[in-house]
Amino acid sequence: MPRPFATHSDELMAWPTQSVEHVPRLLIVDDEPVNIHSLYPLFADDYEVFMATSGQEALAMCHQNQPDLVLLDVLMPDMDGLEVCRQLKAESDTAAIPVIFVTSQHSPEEESAALAAGAVDFISKPVNPAVVKARVKTHLTLKWQADTLRNLASMDGLTGVPNRRVLDDRLRAEWRSCLRNRKALSLLMIDVDQFKSYNDHYGHLQGDECLKAVAKALSINVERSRDVLARFGGEEFVCLLPETDHAGAMHMAERLRQAIESLAIPHEKSTVADVVTVSLGLATQIPLEDSEGLPLLMAADEQLYRAKQHGRNRVMSACDKMN
Ligand code: GH3
Ligand code: MG
Ligand code: MG
Repeated sequence: MPRPFATHSDELMAWPTQSVEHVPRLLIVDDEPVNIHSLYPLFADDYEVFMATSGQEALAMCHQNQPDLVLLDVLMPDMDGLEVCRQLKAESDTAAIPVIFVTSQHSPEEESAALAAGAVDFISKPVNPAVVKARVKTHLTLKWQADTLRNLASMDGLTGVPNRRVLDDRLRAEWRSCLRNRKALSLLMIDVDQFKSYNDHYGHLQGDECLKAVAKALSINVERSRDVLARFGGEEFVCLLPETDHAGAMHMAERLRQAIESLAIPHEKSTVADVVTVSLGLATQIPLEDSEGLPLLMAADEQLYRAKQHGRNRVMSACDKMN
């Protein structure tokens, strides 16, 4: 039997989001339970199948826990399928969910209205089971490919953490959000100490392994869902901490510094320690103008430079008295 919608919010927050074991989730929406029950057996063996009997219920389910595909009835009493589809396409968290209309209407006008609302396909009732199964499979495959490409496009290839493109987008968005809400935004610029001599001594392949270990240790220490740990480039990482004041960010920076030191990766050529260490520059600002966050990035970079000048393996911030 169809089940009520499950909540897997942790899974949705995971990075990367697509795993090979992922069982596609299918949502069937129809005001007539008998129609849902006729479709359900076609998919129950291959997919997780959920149901909704109204447009409002379907929208709520899609926002709570995005299905991979929606089979949507057109004629429903409170909100018709066309309107449900339009609303799904208008919201960023649901826009990528493919919608297939399953309807007793057959006219070319209805079909074009469905496609204009954003549907990927249109199937007439009574359904031919083989056709509906084949079309669902095709659109799920396309969705999986699109999700995979989206994930690859936002992931750093070496370390698996979000890349510079994600950082730029999130910095812009969080800067605007903190500007609107008059909240502090903090940013840490993190750079591996004397990494050139690490590469020269241990070789580039081991250098790559070191960067992977550093990225992993940094990201497991960044826990809040809006925080971002991204590779900025080379051996530099950025940690973005929305709605975090200077004291909170300082605490986090010190935690990250210690996390890397305690990895205890030998670095014979370091003049700072006998293990790999990082230097961190911290900046905290309450945004006052719409500048996309660049002043914050520049301020943190300046502090990173100071941390290098003052001996490395340390955190420096604009509030420090030293110069
Ligand atoms: P500092 O303590 O002042 O930061 O010194 P540094 O040697 O870390 O700084 P520098 O900028 O001179 O060197 C950075 C090195 O990082 C040089 C470059 O070869 C290496 N690097 C950058 N990206 C990668 C990468 O993806 N893999 C490897 N193995 N090395 C990289
Ligand atoms: Mg560097
Ligand atoms: Mg460096």
